[in-house]
Amino acid sequence: MREVLLVRYGEVFLKGTNRPYFMNKLVSHVREAVKPIHGRVWLSEGRIYVSDFTDMQACIDRVTRVFGVHSVSPAIEMDKDDFEAICRQAAEMMQGMSGTFKVLARRSDKRYPLDTPAIMREAGGYILTHVPGLEVDVHHPEHEMMIEIRDHAYLSVLRYPGTGGMPMGTNGKACLLLSGGIDSPVAGYMIAKRGVEICCVHYHSFPYTSERAREKVLELARELSEYCGEIRVYVVPFTEIQMAIHEKCPDNHTTLIMRRYMMRIAEKLAEKENAQALITGESIGQVASQTMDALVCTNQVVSMPVFRPLIGMDKSEIIALAESIGTYATSSLPYEDCCTIFTPKHPTTHPRIEQMERSEKALPMEELIERAIEGTVVETVLPGQSGI
Ligand code: ATP
Ligand code: MG
Repeated sequence: MREVLLVRYGEVFLKGTNRPYFMNKLVSHVREAVKPIHGRVWLSEGRIYVSDFTDMQACIDRVTRVFGVHSVSPAIEMDKDDFEAICRQAAEMMQGMSGTFKVLARRSDKRYPLDTPAIMREAGGYILTHVPGLEVDVHHPEHEMMIEIRDHAYLSVLRYPGTGGMPMGTNGKACLLLSGGIDSPVAGYMIAKRGVEICCVHYHSFPYTSERAREKVLELARELSEYCGEIRVYVVPFTEIQMAIHEKCPDNHTTLIMRRYMMRIAEKLAEKENAQALITGESIGQVASQTMDALVCTNQVVSMPVFRPLIGMDKSEIIALAESIGTYATSSLPYEDCCTIFTPKHPTTHPRIEQMERSEKALPMEELIERAIEGTVVETVLPGQSGI
């Protein structure tokens, strides 16, 4: 008898003839996730199993974060021949629980002496008489004891929800514009969850923004890497561009021109990375630079698709997501972002593309972009190094 984890996967089921491809990715990501705690991972009859881990809770935490995992249950794997021992074990696992329950059974070993209704009936009856405080409710039970008869018997009662989504790396690559704020890590998470590999670009305006602000962004990237695996972060020096915009462009256009430079540089770096799209944390109307007119101006300078998964979300909804994925605390640290320095008093909220283009004429665009890219530093962050 030993403890194993039963891993269920969701949408992966749907992928028809591509199924082996999705499954191989998923299994290899589960394997990677449990490597530091020495888990052994195998696939059998529509489930992924993990055994031989050193720490059950750590194993659950790691596996539930793998995109594509629907839910995880700690289970007892035991000899299937002694049915009474199975009933005893099931009752022991339910001791201390109260309310309603039912037993569910599955049997892939069709030669097993009891069929599924008999397993449910016998085990249910045993639990009812041996665990005080539990009643049967077959329609809406609070607890479900699952007994699966395969090569062994597997018993599980707890179920931890996984993140869902699609296995990482099954859907191309995109480049996330990662600031130190609340929104952009959530945006990156949402796209990565659909199986998209991500890399990050961060604009840093040293000495106006501090080393701690840069470190905060790397910590956010580390937190994302707990879900996505290794991530490359391009840290782009942005001071020269900001100073030039500040000196040469009308005050009410500076924020948007800065945003346009961010997009242009991100697209160039994305091409280098073979990424096919950009991701931002923008949401309609959140700030002056995210009105519909402003978004149109920002979008106009790039030809890659720009994914804005938060576009229709309220700040409170974004915060709830940030909390649930574990990035909120780091995002809330007070260090300044390059957007907040040189902020104009009256930024335009209804800009027009022609106005932006006219204002930008004063800048040596190619040169500025080239120098920023030349000065870019690439950092690599890995899972297992963040505080979440
Ligand atoms: P966030 O919480 O993500 O910082 P925000 O509400 O502060 O968003 P803005 O500062 O206008 O909004 O930025 C909009 C988007 O532009 C961000 O979500 C992010 O994708 C990108 N962005 C802003 N600042 C930076 C930066 N310094 N480096 C990289 N991307 C940035
Ligand atoms: Mg921001």
